[in-house]
Amino acid sequence: MTVLRKNLIDGEWLGEAGSRNINPSNTNDVVGEYASAGPVEAKQAIAAAKAAFPAWSRSGPLARHAVLKKTSDEIMARKDEIGRSLAREEGKTLAEGVGETIRAAQIFDFFAGETLRLSGELVPSVRPGVGVEMTREGVGVVGIITPWNFPIAIPAWKIAPALAYGNTIVFKPAELVPESAWTIVDILHRAGLPKGVLNLVMGKGSVVGQAMLDSPDVTAISFTGSVGTGKRVAAASVEHMRKFQLEMGGKNPLVVLDDADLGTAVDCAVNGAYFSTGQRCTASSRLIVTEGIHDRFVDAMRDRLDKLVIGDALDAKTQIGPVVDQTQLKQDEDYIAIGRQEGAELAFGGDRLERGTPGFYLQPALFVGSTNAMRISREEIFGPVANVIRVKDYDEALAVANDTPFGLTSGICTTSLKHATHFKRNSEAGMVMVNLPTAGVDFHVPFGGRKGSSYGPREQGRYAMEFYTTVKTAYTFAG
Ligand code: ADP
Repeated sequence: MTVLRKNLIDGEWLGEAGSRNINPSNTNDVVGEYASAGPVEAKQAIAAAKAAFPAWSRSGPLARHAVLKKTSDEIMARKDEIGRSLAREEGKTLAEGVGETIRAAQIFDFFAGETLRLSGELVPSVRPGVGVEMTREGVGVVGIITPWNFPIAIPAWKIAPALAYGNTIVFKPAELVPESAWTIVDILHRAGLPKGVLNLVMGKGSVVGQAMLDSPDVTAISFTGSVGTGKRVAAASVEHMRKFQLEMGGKNPLVVLDDADLGTAVDCAVNGAYFSTGQRCTASSRLIVTEGIHDRFVDAMRDRLDKLVIGDALDAKTQIGPVVDQTQLKQDEDYIAIGRQEGAELAFGGDRLERGTPGFYLQPALFVGSTNAMRISREEIFGPVANVIRVKDYDEALAVANDTPFGLTSGICTTSLKHATHFKRNSEAGMVMVNLPTAGVDFHVPFGGRKGSSYGPREQGRYAMEFYTTVKTAYTFAG
């Protein structure tokens, strides 16, 4: 018997049964039932957030600190339960689910601290007797639209700074992962947020999300998701002259040079390409490998992939969980077929796997003999699929790494200080890793990319302030 999870609008839990979410490790397991908001609820939520903004934006740091700290503490205290529920609805492993939950707690803790460090600047005017103050204020009603692949961390890294800097929120999570979204909102609500400051509207992107894009009362939108939807967010936001921030896809390169430590390179590639079932925008999908190490690298990858345990996300032994749903599984399989048609050779995996329960299990796939011009090298697959591109030397590796419409993360495995330093400076990505996987970032430093991957100011750390505040310059003549 599942309990109906409702939407939170103006401090009230509202709504009727609308949709269910399914465990991708076992499609017979219904995780929960959720109210589905429509355009009317979206409008109510936006109006509530608008009405709550004046008081919340003027609330003192202590009030904001208290809510964010309490939220962090409860998430941390319940990390195993919330992490398990996350793994159950999204399909990432238990360890990944708990790790992501801890991350969310850390993010709330970080921004709780930031509320006590808000500051401005005071400078003399060029005019005698005049003082100039520069302060930051919340921007207003922030629309937060999130994807399914980090069901608790991404909402946390948008909601926490939005609240810390005095904004009110309409939050629309992805349809596949409402439980994690509901949990975080429930915790924040009970932590003492005034009514209307945070509103949850679960429902279809094309309906609820679109209603947010179309509302002149949503003053800023932070979006993470696909390039296609990101472009809609951008176009609608320009129409309303609103601030917007987009985090979209990646086609992240991991360069492996002849002088790399082979063990480190394989660890980085397996983690970056396949952990979280490859469903990370920071995943390494292009493995760009120089000639001298290529064959040893491919052999070592095959050995390692063969030993990976793929199975039920809730089984503690599992290292790679299922793909999130049928649509994503079909996309992964379609790209595996495309890679073969394009002439790449499947060196490992790519088959559907049967397990004890009906689920979306896919064997990690590794292509070799691919070129950077192939579709599997240019389009984001968002699954456990990677391809090796063989190159002559470092210069060719760098050129191939940068030859992509995306620019989120990049990585290099090398023992050469010269090449590592050159790569850090010349890689056209927002985040660069040396002897580390392209995925896996800290929570207190900026996150974001270049080119087709991101638009607008960075997320996370102190840089988050850029998006969630607007600057005011005030002049005073004291007489
Ligand atoms: P993904 O492929 O990761 O599901 P999407 O861009 O489709 O990426 O979804 C990311 C988020 O954007 C989800 O919360 C989804 O519901 C929402 N979304 C989808 N379509 C729209 C739209 N037209 N307007 C606003 N939000 C949308």
